[in-house]
Amino acid sequence: MAVELQSKSAFATAQRRFDAAADVLGLSDNTRRLLREVKRELTVHFPVHHDDGSVRLYTGFRVQHNINRGPAKGGIRYSPDVSLDLVKALAMLMTWKCAVVGIPYGGAKGGVIVDPAALSQHELEHLTRRYATEIALLIGPEKDIPAPDLGTTPQIMAWIMDTVSMHAGHSVTASVTGKPTDVGGSEGRQEAAGRGVTYLTLESLKYLHVSEEPPTVAVQGFGKVGSSAARLLHEAGLRVVGVSDSRGGVYNPKGLDLAALEEHRKFRGGVSGFKKADDVTGEELLELPVTVLVPAATERQVTERNADRIRARLITEAANAAVSPDADAILHEKGVFVVPDILANAGGVIVSYFEWVQDLQAFFWEEEEINTKLHHVITRAFYEVLHASVNKRIDMRNAAYVLAVQRVANATTVRGIYP
Ligand code: NAD
Repeated sequence: MAVELQSKSAFATAQRRFDAAADVLGLSDNTRRLLREVKRELTVHFPVHHDDGSVRLYTGFRVQHNINRGPAKGGIRYSPDVSLDLVKALAMLMTWKCAVVGIPYGGAKGGVIVDPAALSQHELEHLTRRYATEIALLIGPEKDIPAPDLGTTPQIMAWIMDTVSMHAGHSVTASVTGKPTDVGGSEGRQEAAGRGVTYLTLESLKYLHVSEEPPTVAVQGFGKVGSSAARLLHEAGLRVVGVSDSRGGVYNPKGLDLAALEEHRKFRGGVSGFKKADDVTGEELLELPVTVLVPAATERQVTERNADRIRARLITEAANAAVSPDADAILHEKGVFVVPDILANAGGVIVSYFEWVQDLQAFFWEEEEINTKLHHVITRAFYEVLHASVNKRIDMRNAAYVLAVQRVANATTVRGIYP
């Protein structure tokens, strides 16, 4: 019964993970009650003019989970699967993610229930500008800073920044991150999440003393995170043998020609049907005999249904909540090493933080400096989590949560309760 309820609620799953860390820390009931809930949740229903002359009503959300360590930070998702429950869960994850890598932000998330691929550019711009206006009372460079997520792009971030700026009467570049570099975006932001995934995959392989030469990789999701992770892992000497997107996957045990696959995807709208590989289903992709599995698509992809069939030695969880709590237990039992989402994909928010800092000081860094700083911050966090995991004899996820929750609890306690 408990499992069934949790599978229906992403937020209940997020709370379950928090509870496990709170138990390890022996957190007081007062702090527990505070951190288990989100601080603010805004639901907006708003109209958008469509090209055919009709007016359609859309629903969007912006949720802030906790802002005790700094302004709220979190992406905006455009997907038919967005719900308030999911956005609350993802906002909570952002709080722990910023805390575990030690950047001074709280956690937020936003989203609109929409399939962006079904809209024209014109409709997408109108929807974005109206949504940004509806959530304007919450967002701003000192309050809550959105970024891209599933289904959103640098162009969409530029429209949000422009909308906030029009309301303010001057350019407010620090109001959103993940923008194009022409309007205050940071070098290296586009592939930051994939780069962080790559750094931590390499550190994990070192720690695990993996002997395969070269280690092989399967990547689920060929979007912003998945495609850059695949390319950077290949450049680091790993062999990417499988890739999938929402329409299906492809597999070639000798390795995929990623540049040709990207061309094919652009032309065909998906990776399936790529001549130099065999088609596989999305399910089969997850169960390939590889060294590393990188789920970089959406949540609940490795669950109690398929965890037992995972053959990877290492999972670098690029997508938020891709592995369910029940699957974690099965994978731990099987000896699969999991680098959890809040650590694995933190490269995105770390470089978003660098972008915000650069916008605030109006002084921009070169890509090399950004990548060096990213490597420093995310690798330091990885070893802090690894030490906690070994010392406390808990898995990497629980260790990441324990460190993160402790930091947020400390900030909450030292600030006290107003008034
Ligand atoms: P995206 O929209 O650019 O790409 C998503 C990809 O996943 C697409 O290729 C899509 O076809 C594929 N996909 C969707 N459902 C699938 C399914 N069921 N099976 C296989 N493939 C599927 O999104 P993104 O920005 O790359 O985000 C991917 C994940 O990474 C999300 O969980 C997001 O929250 C997380 N994330 C993104 C960032 C970022 O900076 N973009 C940062 C941290 C975490």
